[in-house]
Amino acid sequence: MEINGKRLEFRRKVRWGKDLPVDITNFVQAGLNEVKVVRLSNLSDLSTYFAIIEVFECRNESAIKAEMGLLDEQQSRAEIVRRLSSNGDVDLIVSTNTVTVGVCCPLSFRLIDMPVRGKTCLHLECFDFDNYMSSRPREAPGIPPKEDSYKCPHCGGRARPEDLVIDGYLKGVLAKMREDMPKYEDVKHIIIDDKGNWEAKQPNESDEGSRRQGLGKNERRESTTSIVGKLKREVEIICIDDD
Ligand SMILES: [Zn+2]
Repeated sequence: MEINGKRLEFRRKVRWGKDLPVDITNFVQAGLNEVKVVRLSNLSDLSTYFAIIEVFECRNESAIKAEMGLLDEQQSRAEIVRRLSSNGDVDLIVSTNTVTVGVCCPLSFRLIDMPVRGKTCLHLECFDFDNYMSSRPREAPGIPPKEDSYKCPHCGGRARPEDLVIDGYLKGVLAKMREDMPKYEDVKHIIIDDKGNWEAKQPNESDEGSRRQGLGKNERRESTTSIVGKLKREVEIICIDDD
């Protein structure tokens, strides 16, 4: 194969008999490019050959953020109400007609700034976009994370940048909490009723106890997942008691 008159050197995968991909970035030019395929085998060779050119694009976080899908406040609220009103929904642990949702990021344990989750996530819990993007494992600084680095911190489901969606309802709740910050400073969860109204869940006694023992906010590990969109066997409960 030639790209713009320059011959490509292919290496063959020994076991599978396929050619390994060649990076042609340095051979391409802006505008028209010529790809030439030369077949050297004789006419008795009836094999079929395929050639594929894949185009990769490196995008930064602000570009991803600008094009991210938004589940607007009404859609998000409707989804919450639907879940609370549906009976026998085994993927949710719901008590009475309210549901508790965490407002802190499972990665930083701090209040979420931009609440996102995967489009296919079954839970309502979100995580913070910036925390998530900046904490994806990379082989080396400057190398983009691999596809399997993008897994939802709550359920482990697919959450690649193009799969993320902003939760408009939680975004609105977080904005109100920030406006009235001293009041909501220690709030880690909100309780949402079946009409879509919410109220802050006040820290319970055990939280108070751990503070009295001098544990800082970042040292207290607590589960922000109260709704789990997976089977029960995947639920991990860590109970840190002040005793
Ligand atoms: Zn998820």
